Amino acid sequence: MRTAAPIRLLANGRVWSGAVPPAADPDCPTAVATIAEQGGRIVAVGGLDELRRRYPGTEELDFGGRLVTPGFIDCHTHVVYQGNRAGEIARRLAGESYQSIARAGGGILATVNATRAASMQQLVEGALPRVDALLAEGVTTLEIKSGYGLDLEAELRMLQAGRAIGAQRALTVATTYLGAHAVPPEHAGDAEGYVDRLCNELIPAVAASGHADAFDAYCERVAFSAPQVARAFTAARAHGLPVKLHADQLSNMHGATLAAQHGALSADHLEYTDAAGVAALADAGTVAVLLPGAYYFLREQQLPPIELLRSSGVPMAIATDCNPGTSPMASILMAMNFAAVEFGMSTAECLAGVTIAAARALGLHADRGTIEAGKWCDLAVWNAAQPAELVQGIGMRPLHQRFRHGQPDP
Ligand SMILES: [Zn+2]
Repeated sequence: MRTAAPIRLLANGRVWSGAVPPAADPDCPTAVATIAEQGGRIVAVGGLDELRRRYPGTEELDFGGRLVTPGFIDCHTHVVYQGNRAGEIARRLAGESYQSIARAGGGILATVNATRAASMQQLVEGALPRVDALLAEGVTTLEIKSGYGLDLEAELRMLQAGRAIGAQRALTVATTYLGAHAVPPEHAGDAEGYVDRLCNELIPAVAASGHADAFDAYCERVAFSAPQVARAFTAARAHGLPVKLHADQLSNMHGATLAAQHGALSADHLEYTDAAGVAALADAGTVAVLLPGAYYFLREQQLPPIELLRSSGVPMAIATDCNPGTSPMASILMAMNFAAVEFGMSTAECLAGVTIAAARALGLHADRGTIEAGKWCDLAVWNAAQPAELVQGIGMRPLHQRFRHGQPDP
């Protein structure tokens, strides 16, 4: 006979549940509450006395009045890669553009060459310090993209490395096949030919492997055109992979509209997205994933249309975009700080951006992203009294403890 898992009371936290949208909750209020957990799930949230009556004799753990939020979700990362591109910073500071460096064999293709040469074990070992930095800031769910392999074997190796990271840490990993990240060197000058191969060979094989949870593409002059991305999206969806898009980062390619037309989970970057693109995202329910680390690091001047996204009710997520070239940042708290300082996002928007909106960007909002009965008991407990401290500080290391599926980190 199986016995039910014991119930535990996680008592006396100052809880920001994330259950109220930022527009209705601009002040980010918190309430002292107790969370009842069983088998990794939240079974109730309420007053301690009431929950003690409902579940007598249960184990209790006291949060001592600390701030408690849902575990953070970094919904856009490229943490698996090999090699480094530290030399590019001097070239960019000397005035060379990212596009020019990419055309000269730097940028994504430099990482492709190093990543193709790495074993899966090397990829995992290289990524873990970056992953651990994110865990130390309360991340409990992490998206990891491929896209530095660009042939079948290397892409599958990257995706398997992502799965292995999820198995080696107390962490949920969502993997994304970024098959249309760049035109691989063996198809140089022949993006159409590569997209043919993507649609006919690579997407079907990756989908069949079960190693990818979604498909992603980069729609930009240095990458793929809108019609090429549309072909790849059609193939991905036909093989059961939901889609996401790197859209309108460096120019207005009408990527937001393209993503919306394909029912994308998210459209990411969006610096150059226009009003029609925002309206399309709102109609489709596609999440806007904002990446202020890349904006900062590339010293961009074009701000994403935050006010329009806000007034149109488009959910806004915030992610690190952690990658070796354009956003070498393994800090979700810094991404929130940048979103506030550079993009003018409120504390409530920053918090929602790394919890419920980020869960939605991964299609995982049914069971994570807020502190509510029925969801996974993924929590971050902070040495802070109010949520604004998480957004304001830089390098403060405010995490007290992380819970993933009800289990605290040792
Ligand atoms: Zn990216």
